[in-house]
Amino acid sequence: MSDRRHNFNAGPAALPLEVLQQAQEQFVNYGGAGMSIMEMSHRSGIYEQLNNETQALMRELLNIPDHYHVLFLQGGASTQFAMVPLNLLTGGRVAAYVETGSWASKALKEAKLIGETAIVATSKPDEYRRMPDLTNLVLPEGAAYVHMTSNETIQGTQFKSFPDTGSVPLVADMSSDIMSRPLDISKFGLIYAGAQKNLGPSGVTVVIIRDDLASGAPEHVPTMLRYDTHVKNESLYNTPPTFSVYMVNLVLKWIKAKGGVAAIEKANAEKAALIYDEIDRSGGFYRGFAHPESRSPMNITFRIADEALEPLFVKESEKEGFVGLKGHRSVGGLRASAYNAVPYESCKALAEFMADFRRRHG
Ligand code: PMP
Repeated sequence: MSDRRHNFNAGPAALPLEVLQQAQEQFVNYGGAGMSIMEMSHRSGIYEQLNNETQALMRELLNIPDHYHVLFLQGGASTQFAMVPLNLLTGGRVAAYVETGSWASKALKEAKLIGETAIVATSKPDEYRRMPDLTNLVLPEGAAYVHMTSNETIQGTQFKSFPDTGSVPLVADMSSDIMSRPLDISKFGLIYAGAQKNLGPSGVTVVIIRDDLASGAPEHVPTMLRYDTHVKNESLYNTPPTFSVYMVNLVLKWIKAKGGVAAIEKANAEKAALIYDEIDRSGGFYRGFAHPESRSPMNITFRIADEALEPLFVKESEKEGFVGLKGHRSVGGLRASAYNAVPYESCKALAEFMADFRRRHG
C-alpha cells in the first residue's frame, strides 16, 4: 500500500500490514460472533480460547518450558519495574541490578523504593555505549535476583548473550527485543516486555515467570500487583486488555508463518546491516552511538558528525516518507527502530536515503 510510511518509530511501532488487514477484516464481526472482539465478555468461550491460544503461541515460538507461566498484564513494563521487587525482593535480601542505560536505570530507581539494591555491573563510564561483560559477575551474598535489560531502546545497545547466575534468578526486561531471536528460557527466572514494539499494540505486557517465583509475594502486596493472582487466574483475574491480546495473537501467528524466531532473527540482522553498513562506510559522516559489539539490530542509534545537519536530516526524511528517525529527547541524535515488523524494503530505502543525504551534504 503506497500510503504506508517507512515506520521507524521506537514504540508504539510498526505492525505487520497483513496483521492490520486481518484485524480490519475481523473488526466488526469477529469469527461470525456478530460483534467485535472488543465488545465481548472476557469470560466468554471465544475470548478464553483466544487467551489460551495466545499463551500457547508464546510457548511454542519461544520454546518456553512447562514450569513457566505466560501472563498478559497491564501497566506496561514500567509497572514491572515495581512488581518484580514487590514480589521477589523479600526477606531483607538485596536485588542486583545491571546498569546499562535509560531503562535499566528506571528499573533500578523503582526497586530502590521497595528494598535494598546493588549495582553489580555498569556501562555508565562508557556513556552506556556498550553492554558490560557479565561473565564474572560477583553477586551480593543471598541476592534475591539479578535484573538486566536485554536491549536498551534509547542507547541502541543489546546483550548478545546472557549470564549464568546459578541459583539466583535472572530477571530480564526484554521490552524492545522479545521475539526477535531465540532464547534459552531456562536461564531466566522472569522475563517481561511491553508489547508495543515486537509483539503488538500497547496495552498489554507479557510476563514469563518460573513457577517457583510466582508465589513468594509478602502478604501486604496488593492483589493486582501479585504474580500469584494472575498465575492462578490465567491472566483473567480482572478485565484484560482484550483487543491488545487479540492483536498479539495475530502478530504471533504472523511470526510463526514467517518461520518462527530463528527466521525473524536472520531477517532482522539483514535489515540492520543495511543501515549499519551505511554508517560504517560513510567515512565518519555518520557515527554509530553504540560500540560495534553491542549494536542492537532493533534500535540503530547514530549521529551526524556535523550535528547541525540532524534537524535537516529529520525534516528531509519526513518528506521522503520516513517516520520516527529523531533520537530520544534524552540523548539526541538519530535513531531507526527496525523491529520485527519493519519491512526489509523500508530499511533498504533508509540506507539509500542516508547515502543520498551524505552525498548532498558531506
Ligand atoms: N523498558 C524498555 C527497554 C523500554 O523500551 C520501555 C518503553 N520504551 C519500557 C521499559 C517502558 O515500557 P512501558 O512504556 O510499557 O511502561
